[in-house]
Amino acid sequence: MKYLLRLTLSIAILLTPLAALAQPATAQPSVTTTPIQGSLYLLQGKGGNVVVSVGDDGILLVDDDYTEYAAAYHDALKSIAGTVGLPRFVINTHWHFDHTGTNAYWGERGSVIIAQTNVYERLSTRQEMAFFKRVLEPSPRAALPVVTYADSLALRFNGDRVDVQHYPSGHTDGDSVVFFTADNVVHMGDHYFKDSFPFVDLGSGGNVIAYTANVAAVLKRIDDSTIVVPGHGALATRADLERFHHMLQTTTALVKSGLDKGLSVEQISAQGLGREWDSWGRGFIDAPTWIGFIAASIPFADAAQAAPRP
Ligand SMILES: [Zn+2]
Repeated sequence: MKYLLRLTLSIAILLTPLAALAQPATAQPSVTTTPIQGSLYLLQGKGGNVVVSVGDDGILLVDDDYTEYAAAYHDALKSIAGTVGLPRFVINTHWHFDHTGTNAYWGERGSVIIAQTNVYERLSTRQEMAFFKRVLEPSPRAALPVVTYADSLALRFNGDRVDVQHYPSGHTDGDSVVFFTADNVVHMGDHYFKDSFPFVDLGSGGNVIAYTANVAAVLKRIDDSTIVVPGHGALATRADLERFHHMLQTTTALVKSGLDKGLSVEQISAQGLGREWDSWGRGFIDAPTWIGFIAASIPFADAAQAAPRP
């Protein structure tokens, strides 16, 4: 055994330089699979977190990452399900390309894509994302949701009731949170970035004040044993989501009081948000960007909050 191991190692060492030369400059898309609970798994590639339900009724995906990850997800689904690995249903939590990138791949293979009406509207028309300085052309027909809903939808699937609930004016204007009620797992979409300041897409109808109220509404619906799946980051608990909500409230109050005192956004950024939140700004959204999102949300907060919210 020892000899075999040594032999394998030396072959591996011999092969390494060649393998390294053969490697393309960018890493091959790969997907990691983590069992969550019951029929549910967390799949992670490069974009938003993906939850998959696998069972007697087939496969259901919540979100589907970047376009170039399609084949990697298909391989992951084949190995979990032991079948051809094609989802019957794909739910999009919102329209962003790091959550809907493989829609066309699944749509072409017969999966039914489900999303809130505003997701359909944005995917089917040209979108300008000023924040990323990016223009997104209309998606091909196969990538578009086939089933849309204004407020909510429920699927009876793999022994669970999957409640898909729209929360308006949060991260965008078309975000849904997906509750697996029997397994007690919730996929937050981008209404939750674990331990970091969130991206709030003001250009797509998002608003920090409504976002905060939406997170509070979800907290009321879940309990201490709920497994919380963020849009980005590791699996979390209700207590983690409460801390995120506390951050949203505290930093918003701080920015609002600065503005009320007549400070500019730059002056508030120079003062900072306090050491408690230092590590939260080390990801994709830094503290000055987050302060900018809050300040830009306040003038529209009343309109956003007037929208009905379950
Ligand atoms: Zn997003």
